[in-house]
Amino acid sequence: RSGRSAALRARMEERLLGARFRYLNQQLYTGSSRDAARLFRDDPAAFHLYHRGFERQVRRWPERPVQRIVRYLRRRPASLVVADFGCGDCTLAASVRNQVHCFDLVPLSPRVTVCDMAKVPLAAESVDVAVFCLALMGTNLQEILGEANRVLRLGGTLMVAEVASRFEDTRAFLKAMTHLGFRTVSKDLSSSYFYLLEFAKTGPARPGPAPGLRLRPCLYKRR
Ligand code: SAH
Repeated sequence: RSGRSAALRARMEERLLGARFRYLNQQLYTGSSRDAARLFRDDPAAFHLYHRGFERQVRRWPERPVQRIVRYLRRRPASLVVADFGCGDCTLAASVRNQVHCFDLVPLSPRVTVCDMAKVPLAAESVDVAVFCLALMGTNLQEILGEANRVLRLGGTLMVAEVASRFEDTRAFLKAMTHLGFRTVSKDLSSSYFYLLEFAKTGPARPGPAPGLRLRPCLYKRR
């Protein structure tokens, strides 16, 4: 009998964790990056819960997007300096020889510099590759991508891996990216799970709104 009630309690706990994960996830996708920073600063336990939920989601996918970015970097010179925006557990930094600046809201690894990705402590034009791997979460997308533009040198690479269903109008999104100073170099839309987009910095971001720059929030269903 005690075995059965322990199993029941475990199932209840799982459900509660799942519900909290979905709620946190929704907050991250429907607020600004600053709201996210405040949320996790005030409640670091929420961050760890979020990451457990995230891991569980991504494990269901046939391939982890970060592995695609690892493969991409291994084909290019190891001398390139990388900035990983929303690095999570620093899988990228741990998998390549490049110098990788890792930014996230809470340190899952000692490599992480804690900051809001809209304002990273890097000098202008100091990196060769900027990466957002499932990390374009805040609603202030233009500000976040503007920060990537600021730290990238001219001709530098921006890699974006994002959940496919978040794109409502991919063409409009890519057009908006040109407004932000990014030319599309390649786009892999073949996976039904995530898109992989490669851009090159053509110059500074132009001022004024970029209307097509919209992504749907990525909300998970209850299972
Ligand atoms: N890139 C990693 C983790 C993706 S999960 C991977 O592919 O495995 C998204 C990450 O972005 C989370 O770790 C989350 O904490 C981080 N994040 C979300 N908003 C952020 C913000 N405003 N500033 C910095 N990191 C943020």
